[in-house]
Amino acid sequence: MSGQKRLIVVGIPGVGKTTVIDRMMRISKKKQLRAEHVVFGTVMMQEAGKLGVSDRDQMRRLPVGEQKRLQSLAAERIGKMTTDLLVIDTHLFIKTGEGYMPGLPIDLLKPLAPTNMVLVDASVPEVLARRAKDSTRQRDVGSKEDVQLDKQMAVSMLGATGVALGVPSLIVENKDGEADKAAETVLRAVGVG
Ligand code: ATP
Ligand code: MG
Repeated sequence: MSGQKRLIVVGIPGVGKTTVIDRMMRISKKKQLRAEHVVFGTVMMQEAGKLGVSDRDQMRRLPVGEQKRLQSLAAERIGKMTTDLLVIDTHLFIKTGEGYMPGLPIDLLKPLAPTNMVLVDASVPEVLARRAKDSTRQRDVGSKEDVQLDKQMAVSMLGATGVALGVPSLIVENKDGEADKAAETVLRAVGVG
């Protein structure tokens, strides 16, 4: 493996990012690699904790300026992590009343210093079924049309990110029952498998 690999893994809600990353961790640990799975929102919450904020809802209610500060503290901290394989689990956009809002604007992406961008994708029926079935979360299932549009937006944002950072963007299909295969495809593509 050549140097450290820092992957930002993105995808629309419920497509299976966390599942695929968990499998990537399992496979890389078997290969004795130092690998770490970092959820951007969790690191942000840890930074908020240092300021006495104790839960996500409280964090969401902070003034926008405070939230931006927490985001950049989280990005800086993740930027300093040095495991062989670092996988950052996050969203490239958030849906708001005013439209698609970047989850990671360029000033946050740069300190994360990714070597690769990875988009986890799945078909519209697979995404809808996964959202409906996931009893661990309260998910908005959405319509077929919403999911189709979100998938298109995810691909355009991925391309924009690749151009802005000058790193390769990979799209991986996470087919039903084949999360391991998706994980292996990513690891092989980035030179870890
Ligand atoms: P979020 O953006 O909300 O964090 P996510 O993209 O991380 O979502 P997961 O939590 O990994 O999505 O997966 C959502 C649901 O889909 C879970 O119940 C998970 O078990 C299921 N799932 C993920 N991948 C597959 C797969 N390949 N086959 C079948 N079910 C899957
Ligand atoms: Mg997840």
